[in-house]
Amino acid sequence: MKAAVLYELNSPLRVEEVSLDEPGDQEVLVKLVATGLCYSDLHYIHGDAPVPMPVVLGHEGAGIVEKVGPGVTTLQPGDHVVLMVAWSCGKCHFCVEGRPDMCSSQWIVCNMMGTLPSGAKRLRKGNQELNHFFCQSSFAEYAVVHERTAIKVREDAPLDVVCLLGCGTATGIGCVLNRAKLRPGESIVIYGCGGVGLSAVMGAKLAGAGKLIAVDMLDQKLEKAKELGADYVINASQEDPPQRVMEITGGGADYSVECIGNVDVVAQAFASIHNAGTCVVAGMAPIDKVIPIAAFELLIGKTLTGTLQGNIRPSVDVPKYVDLFMAGKLPIDRLITRNYSLDHINEAVQALEKGEVIRSVIRF
Ligand SMILES: [Zn+2]
Ligand SMILES: [Zn+2]
Repeated sequence: MKAAVLYELNSPLRVEEVSLDEPGDQEVLVKLVATGLCYSDLHYIHGDAPVPMPVVLGHEGAGIVEKVGPGVTTLQPGDHVVLMVAWSCGKCHFCVEGRPDMCSSQWIVCNMMGTLPSGAKRLRKGNQELNHFFCQSSFAEYAVVHERTAIKVREDAPLDVVCLLGCGTATGIGCVLNRAKLRPGESIVIYGCGGVGLSAVMGAKLAGAGKLIAVDMLDQKLEKAKELGADYVINASQEDPPQRVMEITGGGADYSVECIGNVDVVAQAFASIHNAGTCVVAGMAPIDKVIPIAAFELLIGKTLTGTLQGNIRPSVDVPKYVDLFMAGKLPIDRLITRNYSLDHINEAVQALEKGEVIRSVIRF
């Protein structure tokens, strides 16, 4: 099969023939139909976060189950699946309580070890083992994944759209619906209008936000936020966002969401809520950064919290989001700017780097 392999940092992906072993216990072989290209893939190409090389990147895949390994109980050949960035064991107390994002299997660590959850590597080029990425490696025509990372979705849903629900899009929607638990009429300000932020805008619109405010530095992204339901937009390069939010809301928003991963923006998001408000951090800031906020603000009842993958429960929430998309209530297709073939994946990488696209989808 063909796959895009990263051999060294800051180099183009090499699209070449590689081989993939049969699925092992609780694993399935998926023929990929499409995969999103996410900013996280770029972080690993640039070495902002570690992953062993050579590696097949990609973590927003969707496709059709071709074969199931021993012990698989939840899927069968022919099932349409969205591959999730998060893995969970299904057995620990967090999983049983419905918090698979907090699974004690520590899926985030597992995601960067270059293996599948079992510890196995199934990808190779000749005699050389290739590393997996986020237990998925969707920049390839096929992937072997753990059955709990492949979420069955309805067959009439276009896989080249719903693939986005594997990572950032589900995070953005989930951080409003599951983490903030926004209720109709409440106000919310969303910092950052990339894939995650615009998905948060869609989630807030769906939940019936009263005043829905979006913040970014780029007018074209703010235009998109308006199209998707933002009532107010603030260009942070021209106005002071917290001050403007105070004016719009009359004293601060009920919720703010930070979707960039910048600690100074987290401070702005925290400064945008009223005394009993909640600020949710969904962006991933560099691990050595500290948030500059006054402790006194916690004393007056503000909440600062974070979320991993929008607190979503993949097997419950992803099929629900797919239904909402199919009903026209969650237009995630409007995040897709361009489509590419696997052979042109390096062009897709460059377009994302240059900020020319919100999301690109690779179609197989
Ligand atoms: Zn991602
Ligand atoms: Zn678990």
